[in-house]
Amino acid sequence: MKKTIRDYELRNKKVLIRCDFNVPMKDGKIIDDTRIEESLKTINYAISEGAKVILLSHLGRVKEEADLKKNNLAPVAGRLSTLLGKEVIFVNTTRGPELEKKIEAMRMGDVLLIQNTRYEDLDGKKESSNDAELGKYWASLGDLFINDAFGTAHRAHASNVGIATHLPNGIGFLMEKELNALNGLMDPVHPFMILMGGAKVSDKVGVINHLVEKADAILIGGGMANTFLKAKGYSVGASFIEEDSLEFAKTLLEKYKEKILLPIDVNVTTEKTDTAVNRITPVETINENEMILDIGPASIAWFMEKLSSSKTIFWNGPFGVYEMPKYGVGTQKLLEGICSLNANTVLGGGDIVAAAAKFGYKEKVSHASTGGGATLEFLEGKELPGLAVIEEE
Ligand code: ADP
Ligand code: MG
Repeated sequence: MKKTIRDYELRNKKVLIRCDFNVPMKDGKIIDDTRIEESLKTINYAISEGAKVILLSHLGRVKEEADLKKNNLAPVAGRLSTLLGKEVIFVNTTRGPELEKKIEAMRMGDVLLIQNTRYEDLDGKKESSNDAELGKYWASLGDLFINDAFGTAHRAHASNVGIATHLPNGIGFLMEKELNALNGLMDPVHPFMILMGGAKVSDKVGVINHLVEKADAILIGGGMANTFLKAKGYSVGASFIEEDSLEFAKTLLEKYKEKILLPIDVNVTTEKTDTAVNRITPVETINENEMILDIGPASIAWFMEKLSSSKTIFWNGPFGVYEMPKYGVGTQKLLEGICSLNANTVLGGGDIVAAAAKFGYKEKVSHASTGGGATLEFLEGKELPGLAVIEEE
């Protein structure tokens, strides 16, 4: 078990917290503040324990001068201040005397946010290459380091790995919640069912390989089902196929005949538009000019029947083009179905979590993982550098 923020005395300590404030922005405005909201628990705890709370986060990528303005963290400081109901001291720089003076002037319970850590990338990618001097400098600003940014834990950057190597450290509540949910999948209560969808097989090979032995069944949908259907010998018409993944699909289908379940009917059309006519067809009768954009009602019913006894469910990747109303039905119905079960339900992946939010199920599942790449790497069994560097209890 990793050390957590609870394992330390915070009173009057300068606590550096690496948050994930990498929120979607448009024209200097925050479009979705979920990530800020999710970081409140750790920040509020540090405030209530009497820490001097110093926050670091990246925002977007900084490759050229123009990215500085676009990825300025100032709006996050404003939003955070509103959510916390208290002042957030924003320092528009990542190092230097102004920052140091403001930190020196902090009192117990004060909150300070440092400018986007990736501003340091403009000068030789210092943040993203985990520049040794930078990590050491940031560490010198505090007494303790807490990593609460699960979404960047698969990267070794100065603001997570660099700082952690120079200070006593632990994880925050958000990171802890993510790890508890994902660790639960590594040692699942059975029956354990996996739903794998989304765009491409090639993105998911690592996760499938790592989890297939643990799972009682893997239900396949979305764009990646096309390749599996073709590997099984069906004609999938004009559907998107990954030739390079056909062999993988064939091998998996042969080795795990009973475990890998494919759609039995699908929602097809000749054009990916809202207006083009669509129809439901068994997978045996897809026309040359038709493409699969969702699973059909018989598949939904069959999949739900298979899922009904499960105690643990992990879902990555939507089962259709959920962005379009006509092709979101499979994903929506299965989300509704799994939320009605008495099971531990975990969603992982940007799009499946977005689909759950869109259809109103994000709060109804047991856990919606915010990690994206970090979630997938964890489920591939890879060690996450941002986590590996954190002390064990
Ligand atoms: P996640 O982010 O959950 O890991 P992915 O990024 O792998 O999921 O895939 C999401 C994308 O897959 C969505 O944009 C969705 O439109 C697309 N998709 C799902 N089903 C299909 C399909 N049958 N054909 C084409 N694209 C699909
Ligand atoms: Mg995605």
